Amino acid sequence: MTEENPFEIALKQLDDCAKILKLDHDVHEILRHPMRELHISIPVRMDNGKTRVFQGFRVQYNNARGPTKGGIRFHPQETIDTVRALAAWMTWKCSLLDLPLGGGKGGVICNPKELSVGELERLSRAYIKQIWQFIGPNKDIPAPDVYTTAQIMAWMMDEYSKITGNNSFGCITGKPICIGGSCGRDDATARGGMYTIREAAKEVSINLKNATVAIQGYGNAGCNAALLCKEFFGSKVVAVSDSKGGAYNKNGLNLENVCTCKAETASVVNSPNTQPISNKELLELDVDILIAAALENVITKDNASKIKAKILAELANGPTTPEADAILYKNGVHVIPDFLCNAGGVTVSYFEMIQNASMYYWSLEEVHERLASKMTSAYHTVLDAAKTYNVNMRKAAYVVAVNRVVKAMRLRGWI
Ligand code: NAD
Repeated sequence: MTEENPFEIALKQLDDCAKILKLDHDVHEILRHPMRELHISIPVRMDNGKTRVFQGFRVQYNNARGPTKGGIRFHPQETIDTVRALAAWMTWKCSLLDLPLGGGKGGVICNPKELSVGELERLSRAYIKQIWQFIGPNKDIPAPDVYTTAQIMAWMMDEYSKITGNNSFGCITGKPICIGGSCGRDDATARGGMYTIREAAKEVSINLKNATVAIQGYGNAGCNAALLCKEFFGSKVVAVSDSKGGAYNKNGLNLENVCTCKAETASVVNSPNTQPISNKELLELDVDILIAAALENVITKDNASKIKAKILAELANGPTTPEADAILYKNGVHVIPDFLCNAGGVTVSYFEMIQNASMYYWSLEEVHERLASKMTSAYHTVLDAAKTYNVNMRKAAYVVAVNRVVKAMRLRGWI
């Protein structure tokens, strides 16, 4: 993993897209800046009776296509540039999936692992007290992200409802199902990724039934991806990994054993009938499909030429650096870019908003059907753009997404 400023990467990707689209200088300039940022100090009474002040942010990057939407991260290394980059990426992701939403993101610099449940609840409520005028079902709708959970969303929704005097389920998504959450949110990111892999396999002529798969990361995205690769396609998952290392079996892993090992030892390493493999080795395995489901900047100019997979599915945000992207494209690796591949999460969050607004809740089957339709259609729109503009899939995704935002800005008379 290399340290790069995520907002600089996001701007570089936008600049590349601006060249392809021959974007007008003024439009490009507007898109290079977040529309609005809120920087807040959040006083919280700690269990020892003392007050501690946390720093937090909410960034609304662009709302030309609709209210902004994006998660809230609780992380000790949170920075405003990470939040800005993620808010920009949310803008492009919502646009690419043709959701009537803009992009936003929030964050609080804190280590939730060091907070008691009471402190976490007071911090969550205090964050909403500081930003409530800034958010709302028609303005900006937060969601869970790194280290924020359905329980935290429940507290935040409750706080917003108390302040506004309305029972406002629609102010936030990712809630528990019994208080306005949607069926199918848990594995939506991985499941959405599966629909794009299914289409990509047709494009590069891989029979998914005989395909081999390696997955970096075994959290929500990676673990569900492993289970779904097997359930959906009957593919052979030969390697998985987490922060402690990986487990490999060339004949295919027994995923039940891997899950048990992860639950009992907090790692997939040493699952029965597997040999250990490093995260670096896993990325370079000779497999049909590589799923990056852990961290950013893991495929760089140093290892991109060693990637042997035919499809790289980016469930993680930002796993590939711009230099690596160029190498993968040259080598014919079919990349399903992050803001397409992992858009299942925000798509089901959008479904949650619709269900909250109509007060009518869908079955799991309805959620899956609508998710499949959105993801499949977005994949083909990107593939068509890649062919039309003769560019890689990431640039094509940018072209589609940015074009739609620009069109909305023009129609609204902003430019
Ligand atoms: P998670 O915390 O549940 O899991 C992360 C996994 O990555 C864990 O298995 C962890 O052990 C592993 N990991 C951490 N450091 C590692 C390292 N150095 N090398 C290898 N593995 C390492 O997180 P998640 O929700 O599964 O998210 C994973 C990625 O997917 C992130 O980039 C996230 O932004 C992205 N994503 C997730 C969702 C979602 O709905 N969960 C939606 C969109 C994008």
